[in-house]
Amino acid sequence: MYDVVVVGAGPSGCMAAKYAAKSGVSTLIIEKDPEIGIPVRCAGLISKRAVEESELKGVRNFIRNRLKGAIIHSPNYDMQLEARESAYAIRRDLFDRALAKEAMNSGAEIITGCKVVGIRMSEGELRIHVDTSNGKKDEIGAKVVIGADGVRAGVARMAGMKIMRNLLSCVQVEGSYDSEGAYAEVFVGREIAPGFFAWAIPLDDRIARIGLCIDKRYSSPHTTPLAFLKRFMLHEPRMAKRYRGTYFSYTGGAIPIAAGLKRQKTVKMKMMKDGGVGILLVGDAAAQVKPITGGGVYYGLRCGKIAGEVAAEAASTGDMQVLKHYDRRWRREIGKEIAFGIWVHRLRCVLGDDDLDRIFRALGRERRRVEEKGDMDYPSLILREFIKEPEFIKLAVKNIIRYMYIYGRRGKY
Ligand SMILES: Cc1cc2nc3c(=O)[nH]c(=O)nc-3n(C[C@H](O)[C@H](O)[C@H](O)COP(=O)(O)OP(=O)(O)OC[C@H]3O[C@@H](n4cnc5c(N)ncnc54)[C@H](O)[C@@H]3O)c2cc1C
Repeated sequence: MYDVVVVGAGPSGCMAAKYAAKSGVSTLIIEKDPEIGIPVRCAGLISKRAVEESELKGVRNFIRNRLKGAIIHSPNYDMQLEARESAYAIRRDLFDRALAKEAMNSGAEIITGCKVVGIRMSEGELRIHVDTSNGKKDEIGAKVVIGADGVRAGVARMAGMKIMRNLLSCVQVEGSYDSEGAYAEVFVGREIAPGFFAWAIPLDDRIARIGLCIDKRYSSPHTTPLAFLKRFMLHEPRMAKRYRGTYFSYTGGAIPIAAGLKRQKTVKMKMMKDGGVGILLVGDAAAQVKPITGGGVYYGLRCGKIAGEVAAEAASTGDMQVLKHYDRRWRREIGKEIAFGIWVHRLRCVLGDDDLDRIFRALGRERRRVEEKGDMDYPSLILREFIKEPEFIKLAVKNIIRYMYIYGRRGKY
């Protein structure tokens, strides 16, 4: 029996396993895919802070490009922002593999090609049912399980834990693109990507990751994210001008946006005669994602560290009550940011293109302030200042009826 078993070898799981193993408890990561980091479902845009948080000091081969800032295109307005600190376009396959290696160097074991299909509580331990790649079934014992299994959140479902979330549907290609220097580009607009945005992240002067997400409620058989992406690449004038007509790889996926933090359950524990057992959720599995940008790597790394430390303490002392600290600690760090982001995301879903233009023109007038205080990991820092301004209050009042209709009366989301 292992002290801690982590399900999923993404950034959150590898970091959780590293911190559990570093605390001296026996730790195993179970990954369903045969190769760590593949397939990639990510645009790979992360902050310098996130790279530091990864603690991958020697290895930097995962960095594909260094970005100087962002260009935001609203339907009729373009704004260029210089970042205080570089952001990075990374190769997620190499990044995830490097994190897994670090977890192993700290003492964690990893098995790949092994899918967790069930979890059962019994006689002082959790029995984890797995299907191996050669078709065999097996069982592994653990005191604490960390569900770091991404957006599908299988562990949460198996354990009956409730994650209140809404999904964004995303597609992305790597294609030939004449970039405007090393700037990540963001395109907003209901015609482009309703409820979210499209992006072009340059990997060099000629290639970019081009993709978009839409809020799932706008997805139907006729309005798939892929249909939006095709239209965006071929017909959005600012994009079509620079897209060179060929793409080499295609990926799709979903991003969870938390929907009700208060009722979110990320910890489950049970005290039994023979000792306690517990389950924690981390990363996408716990919807620990920035609702404004959809970025989840940085929060996953941060929360992974907390999950690993707390799980190790619970497993080594046998006191499962300490698992509650996990919930408290991650909420203290990113709870307010996520709660604010949920509100911004909801508002974004009801705003029209004129409203989006007005917002970005207003932000453009305060460009210097945005550049000074803007932070891709904590976007609420700057946005909280702006929402108090008359222009934004007017917009909020104008849209309040639609907002209440969608989120209040129907109680959706
Ligand atoms: C199109 C797209 C673009 C994105 N762009 C960005 C971006 O630019 N920046 C950013 O920060 N974030 C981005 N994200 C979000 C980011 O990819 C996730 O937030 C991040 O990968 C979450 O890490 P994780 O470790 O929690 O989960 P994952 O990276 O999803 O890892 C979960 C792992 O668990 C494994 N697993 C699942 N089920 C089982 C099972 N039953 N048994 C065993 N293993 C299992 C999976 O195979 C996987 O390896 C993007 C997402 C998408 C879809």
